[in-house]
Amino acid sequence: MLSPIEKGLFVLLVIVCLTAAYNGFLQMAQIISRGQGKLNLEELPRRLVVGAVALFTQGRITRHRKLTSILHWGVAWGFLFYFIVNGIDILEGTLNAFHFLRGHIIGDIYRFLADTFGAIVLIGVIYFLLRRFVFHDPVLYARDNVKLHPKARAGGIGKDSLVVIFFILLHIGFRMLGVAFLIAQNNSGNDFTQPFANIIAQTFFVGLPPSFLTFGWHLSWWISIGLAVMFLPYFPHTKHAHLFMGPVNFMTRPDRQYLAEMHTYDFEDESIEQFGAANLFDLEQTHIVDAFACIMCNRCQQACPAYHTGKELSPAALEINKRYYLKENMAALANGSQEVMSIPLLDYAISESAVWACTACGACIDVCPVGNEPMLDIMDIRRNQVLMESNFPDELQGAFRGMERTGNPWMSIESRLAWTSALDFDVPTVAENPNFECLLWVGCAGAFNPEAQKTVQSVATILHHAGVSFAVLGDDETCTGDSARRAGNEYLFYELAMSNIKTLNAAGVDKKQIVTSCPHCFTTLGKEYKELGGDYTVYHHTQMIANLIGQGKLRLNGRNLEPVTFHDPCYLGRHNGVIAEPREVLAKAGATLLEMDRHGQNSFCCGAGGAQMWKEEEHGTAAVNATRFAEARRTRAKTLVVGCPFCAQMMHDANRESGEPMQVKDVAELVAEAIG
Ligand code: SF4
Ligand code: SF4
Repeated sequence: MLSPIEKGLFVLLVIVCLTAAYNGFLQMAQIISRGQGKLNLEELPRRLVVGAVALFTQGRITRHRKLTSILHWGVAWGFLFYFIVNGIDILEGTLNAFHFLRGHIIGDIYRFLADTFGAIVLIGVIYFLLRRFVFHDPVLYARDNVKLHPKARAGGIGKDSLVVIFFILLHIGFRMLGVAFLIAQNNSGNDFTQPFANIIAQTFFVGLPPSFLTFGWHLSWWISIGLAVMFLPYFPHTKHAHLFMGPVNFMTRPDRQYLAEMHTYDFEDESIEQFGAANLFDLEQTHIVDAFACIMCNRCQQACPAYHTGKELSPAALEINKRYYLKENMAALANGSQEVMSIPLLDYAISESAVWACTACGACIDVCPVGNEPMLDIMDIRRNQVLMESNFPDELQGAFRGMERTGNPWMSIESRLAWTSALDFDVPTVAENPNFECLLWVGCAGAFNPEAQKTVQSVATILHHAGVSFAVLGDDETCTGDSARRAGNEYLFYELAMSNIKTLNAAGVDKKQIVTSCPHCFTTLGKEYKELGGDYTVYHHTQMIANLIGQGKLRLNGRNLEPVTFHDPCYLGRHNGVIAEPREVLAKAGATLLEMDRHGQNSFCCGAGGAQMWKEEEHGTAAVNATRFAEARRTRAKTLVVGCPFCAQMMHDANRESGEPMQVKDVAELVAEAIG
């Protein structure tokens, strides 16, 4: 037990450290509150459960980097358990004759867990130490062309890690030594409920003078517990704030209808002066929490197609730069210094080229273990660039003009019904078939792009064959605005959305079903129009086909096809979780599937999303579509199957450049062929 002087010193230390920690956490809260919107605290009990689940399951951490993730699990759980251990150690050190459940089975289990978790944590942190400082795992670093805070580039992240690793080593290591001193003193080295400390006691301490053992325990207690208390004020200033900010992030972020749902502006509201994000505080509060939660693990960077192909974009660097800016200006930002608050994100967080390199694939959001959403920051920066600065890649001007003037980014003035002329049956408009059961949303690609026309023709053939009463909007359909939105032109998206909602509601589509062959239209119509007054039941054609087969309305000829591989479109698989249906349909059409390394939720973008379809790819070392096409070719499949007109275009282009070694077809084309 501690002496009265030691107890006094400990109380003083606790008061000083808690006061300093309180100030740090208060500054964090003040900074977060300066962002836009509010953290989502509705249905708090449910959200607390979400936060607790994130804390104990460690988010999505084990989906990638298996060994690192398992060891991180051990460290995190050990660290959490040590909150209890530290509390009990403090009580045992400061209360007269207090020994937690000594001689009781629960107490023995507790001591066993404390000792075992201690060993697991030590093994874990030694692994992390070796990984970063001996083996220099390349995934922990960013390429030179990425904008990264000079201190982070110069090893700041490593130093932060080193401090924390040494803290844990000393905290847990000395706790184990302290227990070993006690075992040697009390049990002569035989306490099998604490096996690791017992080995140390038996090997080093049994037989040493009692005064030395007592001194050893006091020293160990002070290093272990004293360090834990002194670490509290350090927490808000280190990336290890992720321990609690990660769960807070999961708990307080908005409920998203799909992975990367963007917030909507009301353009009728004249009080809004700023659209998009020029500086950090134009971002939503949840995206300021992201910076505090970021563990700087680079998982998002590793998954990012833009980074992977040598562009300037690293979603990890964006979060790390935000974090360094916050760290360096904590007090000023907490006090609301306008001078510091108004520093543009483009000055320190991300380069302009990186902003325009994003394909909006959502991989960064999907892999982040602490629930960060870097893609949504980029979308907000684009909105500022387009709506406030009028500064965007020249090529986008054509697509914007096309959507504004002709209702499609192709700038085509052809009829939207031209694709129907190749069919041997009539495709009715809603005026011609007002009692339709299902609206076939053709989309701009389906209407004007020759390859996508084949897909829409196949979908219409399948619906016709299955006896579904369907109709199209014909020339009343206009672009959904997906590309405008992802390119930052929120106002144009709003205009297109309002026009389409008016048309759809007038046709009574709100009470019927929509089927579309475009995952972007699928997302926009089904999920993004809701907030603007358009509530529709929308199916991707692969879902509709799977349903028709399931209901026995569509029978296929059961022939065997040559092996195929399927490229999951980001806005179908990752963003909306439609992964099984295309595969079910391919199997029914007689195809054997050879999966690419990255498939399903982990699919790799085709390179067209995020409005990249309408602009030149940013400078890098490889084209995204060629990279993906090479992956498809490695499967040795004869046909690359797609489920999105943008993916189809990108894969056709890559195929042409590589000498056409594969066929590229939509799922619907294979199904239509299997009907005959
Ligand atoms: S959305 Fe995709 S391209 Fe954009 S930053 Fe995230 S991972 Fe990279
Ligand atoms: S944003 Fe998420 S995935 Fe990316 S570095 Fe930070 S914690 Fe890791």
